[in-house]
Amino acid sequence: VSRAQSALADWSKISLESRAVMLRQAAGRLIENSSSLGELLSTEMGKPLARGKGEVNHCGDWIHGKLNEMQEAFQPDRLLDEGTESTILFDPYGVAAIISPWNYPMSMPQWMVIPSLMAGNTVILKPSEETPLIAQAYVDTLNEFLPPYVLQVIHGADEQGKALVSSDVQFIAFTGSRSVGKHILKSAADKLKRVVLELGGKDPLIVLPDADIEAAASYAVGSGFENAGQMCVSVERIYCADEISDEFETKVAELVGKINIGQWDDPKATMGPMINQRQRDHVINQINEALRDGARAICGGSGHPDRFVNPTVLVDVTDDMSIMQEETFGPVVAIARFNDVEKAIFRANDNPYALGGAVFGADEDKAWQVARQLQAGMIGVNKSTFGAAGTPWVGAKESGYGFHGSIEGHRQFTQRRIISKARK
Ligand code: NAD
Repeated sequence: VSRAQSALADWSKISLESRAVMLRQAAGRLIENSSSLGELLSTEMGKPLARGKGEVNHCGDWIHGKLNEMQEAFQPDRLLDEGTESTILFDPYGVAAIISPWNYPMSMPQWMVIPSLMAGNTVILKPSEETPLIAQAYVDTLNEFLPPYVLQVIHGADEQGKALVSSDVQFIAFTGSRSVGKHILKSAADKLKRVVLELGGKDPLIVLPDADIEAAASYAVGSGFENAGQMCVSVERIYCADEISDEFETKVAELVGKINIGQWDDPKATMGPMINQRQRDHVINQINEALRDGARAICGGSGHPDRFVNPTVLVDVTDDMSIMQEETFGPVVAIARFNDVEKAIFRANDNPYALGGAVFGADEDKAWQVARQLQAGMIGVNKSTFGAAGTPWVGAKESGYGFHGSIEGHRQFTQRRIISKARK
């Protein structure tokens, strides 16, 4: 931390353009080395190699795409009234602590590291203890182009995370679980450190009676099983209109049946293992509890080999089951039925998580009205939760606190300061 503080004065004074030049060079290097970095990422985290390389390339492209937006975000703003001229400045906080999860082990740190650096903060990254090697390689790549101590990494788990949060840092950005997020917020309260938290989700999908069943099923499977379901905005709970449920369930099962599980270097694999035994046990316990209480598995549900969970589709679920209440973070979707759309909306909202959500229905106005009543931060109508370029990444309720991405989101990595003078 003291090294990060020593580097702050110079780093915060150089121009936005100079910072962008260094980061653009780093982005080029990520893309140049995407084969070896992708292999490291996949070996360590378990996702299929094409996905690992894809994540690295995406990180390089993302930097290229976002730097202009960040430069715009951090330019001073000017406001005038009759007697006063005010300049709004977007200054760095100081030393930023970034704490990240393992599920997208390069993208997740990057979404917080790059705006922190561009804003002029110096950064200490504590990546997940599950994926230290790819995080180290990411930091080493950026550090080929950054001055010393502008970006550092510390490795470890909760003990090191806690120590970093309570050290003399001025800003904390965290992506991870809701429970750890709450812990960080409490620790940060002592000195009122600024905090941005991106937390877990239990995303609902509502399938209306007039929905394109093929499209809704394809979205449910694409989202619910991406990254073996270890994605914060994956579909976990589905509420499907009664009259189309049989057909929808059959379609979902057919698509899930095409998923191939396998190790990262198996060219036929489309889905990898769980990150660790604890996560595998958590997912299997939720499945078993639901089956014990009357749910049926129309895909998977048992016989999970090694570190894998077989892609599972549960039907006949009830709202009180943990599979419908708590984050699963595994390759499972649970399908419930509804007759009354207002009740379906209530059930979808009856959860502390509110990250993403989606509604499928042919009448777009009606689907929009349903979406408008969902409490999630990011909602798709006949599409994924992902918004247009330039929209923020934001969770509502207990899925987030502050947000990032977008002009306003980038500015969350800065201290606003206003200097006003009288107009002549
Ligand atoms: P986690 O909360 O267990 O760990 C995240 C990070 O926090 C790790 O680096 C860990 O070492 C560190 N940590 C643990 N205890 C800490 C403490 N007391 N103080 C400080 N740091 C501590 O989460 P995970 O298992 O790595 O990731 C999965 C979770 O992340 C899921 O809940 C998922 O939904 C969420 N997630 C959210 C988003 C989003 O954008 N909202 C994106 C990806 C993942």
